[in-house]
Amino acid sequence: MGILRLSHVVIRVPDIELATAYYSEVVGLIETAREPERVYMKCWDEHQHHSVVLEYAPTYGLERFGFKVEHESDLDDLSTRIEAAGIPTKRFEPGELCPGAGATVQFVAPSGHTTELVWGMAQVGNMLPLTNPPPEPLGLVGIHPPRLDHIFLMCEDVDETTAFYTDVLEFRLTEQILADDGHQLVTFLERTHTPHDIAFITGPNRAFHHMAFWLDDWNEVRKAADICSYHGIPIDAGPTRHGATRGHGLYFFDPAGNRNEVYTGGYWADPDREPVTWTEAEIGRAVFYYEGVIDHRFMTVHS
Ligand code: CA
Ligand code: FE
Repeated sequence: MGILRLSHVVIRVPDIELATAYYSEVVGLIETAREPERVYMKCWDEHQHHSVVLEYAPTYGLERFGFKVEHESDLDDLSTRIEAAGIPTKRFEPGELCPGAGATVQFVAPSGHTTELVWGMAQVGNMLPLTNPPPEPLGLVGIHPPRLDHIFLMCEDVDETTAFYTDVLEFRLTEQILADDGHQLVTFLERTHTPHDIAFITGPNRAFHHMAFWLDDWNEVRKAADICSYHGIPIDAGPTRHGATRGHGLYFFDPAGNRNEVYTGGYWADPDREPVTWTEAEIGRAVFYYEGVIDHRFMTVHS
């Protein structure tokens, strides 16, 4: 019941041809549809119509993003809860918002991000047969992550946003970085029993920090760094280890300046697991466990 997982992100790009070339050749996503100002893409192992949408805009950043819900009735149930929290919602019929779109509820979360709940997006398959499939299709290029893993956003009031996510959307808090005065600097939230499907860090409302693609193991992260370097893609940080979530990651930028991550590892986040707390003094190690410090460039704002 409720939210299943991250469904899609719509990111702004000023040069849609350049961005499409990058996301298909370097990241290795699959293009599924195209409009004059939008390109729809998915990771190879995802079955739904799209998970990454490139949208023409004069600058970079996150336009909107969405979660998939398990049942159609979840749209009504969650809308009621969101409205009861004082936030208006808007409903769109299947196909109304874009090609392949399911029934969608849209609202602006306390973080300022336009957020969607989707049920029934068109399914296009994962390029493999459902009977006796091989482990991976042949001919994939670039990094070719199997799926989107999480999104990392900024907001002014992380406590308020986290309470909305846990109380209204029924996310579970897995980890938090607490300021010395007790307020939340960073929180990690999940619905998929992974360490995070979404995370919030203190910063301007509506700002985008990164979206992360899943890779199967640490060796794939090394190969992703090789591929980025081969193509001259600017690497921001890593390959490294996170203290929070225990994951391994590599950060780099798309041609528009949107930060991407490839991520692996972590742990099984059982619903009865107690949240882990990091103190402000250890924030460097929480984010970059080996380096122990956060370079100021890593906090660049993409709103
Ligand atoms: Ca995840
Ligand atoms: Fe991340």
